[in-house]
Amino acid sequence: MDRIARIAAVRATFGASEIDVMLVPAPVNVRWLSGFTGSNGQILIDSDAAVLFTDGRYTEQSARELSAAGIDHLITVHDDRPTVSEAMTAFVSDRRLGFESTSVTVADHAALAASMPTAELIALAPHIAPLRQIKDAGERARLETAAAIADAALASQLASLRPGITERQFQLDLERAMLDAGADALSFETIVASGPNSALPHARASQREFEDGDLVVIDFGAAVDGYGSDMTRTFCIGDPTERQLDLYDAVATAQAAGVRTVADQVPELDVHQVCADVLDERGYGDAFIHGTGHGIGLEIHEQPILSSRSVGILRSGLIVTVEPGAYLTGFGGVRVEDSVVVTASGCEPITHAPKGLVPLPG
Ligand code: ZN
Ligand code: ZN
Repeated sequence: MDRIARIAAVRATFGASEIDVMLVPAPVNVRWLSGFTGSNGQILIDSDAAVLFTDGRYTEQSARELSAAGIDHLITVHDDRPTVSEAMTAFVSDRRLGFESTSVTVADHAALAASMPTAELIALAPHIAPLRQIKDAGERARLETAAAIADAALASQLASLRPGITERQFQLDLERAMLDAGADALSFETIVASGPNSALPHARASQREFEDGDLVVIDFGAAVDGYGSDMTRTFCIGDPTERQLDLYDAVATAQAAGVRTVADQVPELDVHQVCADVLDERGYGDAFIHGTGHGIGLEIHEQPILSSRSVGILRSGLIVTVEPGAYLTGFGGVRVEDSVVVTASGCEPITHAPKGLVPLPG
C-alpha cells in the first residue's frame, strides 16, 4: 500500500483549498494515511511534514504500525499527552488550517479556535474520502482475500439452510467460519433474514427458525487488515414457488445487467438505472427501495454511492458493489450482491460464490 502517495495526494489539494495545513482527525482517514489503528490519533500535514499526535498509551503501537506501513520516516509521532494540544498549536501557528467539516464536531471546533487563536480555521468539504475511492494494489489484495474468506465461509454453511435452524444460529456459524478462516473481524453485523423478514432490507438476525418455503437473504462480509468485503446471496429453503422463482430471476437479471454496465467512464447513475429498468419491466419497480451499490474499503459504505442521485463517473480501480433487491411485504425479498473492480473494459468480480435460489450442494 503506497502511503507516501496518499500523503502526497492530500498535499496536492492544498492549493485549491487555499490552506497551508490539513488536520486529519477521523480514525478511518488516520488509518488510511498512516496505518495507525489506535482510538486517539490526529494527523497534521503541511508541505514539509506529517505528524501523528496521540497519547502515551499508543507510543509503542504507533511506532510499530507506522514502521509496518513503511512510513515511520515520513510521519513523526507526538505522544506527550499534556502537551499534545500545545504541540498542535505550535505546528499550525498562524497558518491556514483546513479540516473536513464532516470530521470535526462543533465542540472540537470551539476547542480548536480557543487553542489556536492565531490560526485561520477553514472548513472544507470531505477531502480524503474521495481520495480513498481508487484502491491501490495492496488494498485490492486485502479486499480479494476478505471476499474469498466470505465465499468459503458461505459454502461451508449451506447445509445449515434447512428448517429448524434459527437466523441467529446461522449468523453465528457463518461469522465463526469467517473468523476461523482468517478474517480479523466482520465487515458489519451479518444480515440473515428469513421468510417475511427477508422483505426488510436491513433486518437483524432473530431467533426465528427457517421454515420450508422461506426465502433467506444473507448479507455479510469479512474484514482483513481493516478492509471489509460485502456480498449478498438469497436462497430458498426447500422447493421455490413460481412467484419466488420469478422474483429471484428478476433481481438476478437486474444484478447481472448492472454488473455488465460497470466500466471505466460510465456514469454511476447508469448502473443504477439499468437495474431499476429491469425490475420495472418485470413489475417489481416499486419493490426496489434502495440504491444499487457503494464503494467498499476501510468503511463498508464508501464513495461512490450508486443510486438515482449519483452524478459521478466510474473510474478504473474503484471497487464497488452491485446489489439490487426487491422486497414484497409479507411475502419476502431477494437481494443479490457482488463486489467488483472497475476496469477499462468492464469489471472483474472479487465475489465468486455461486448464485442461485437453490443452494448448490457444498
Ligand atoms: Zn451487503
Ligand atoms: Zn453492500
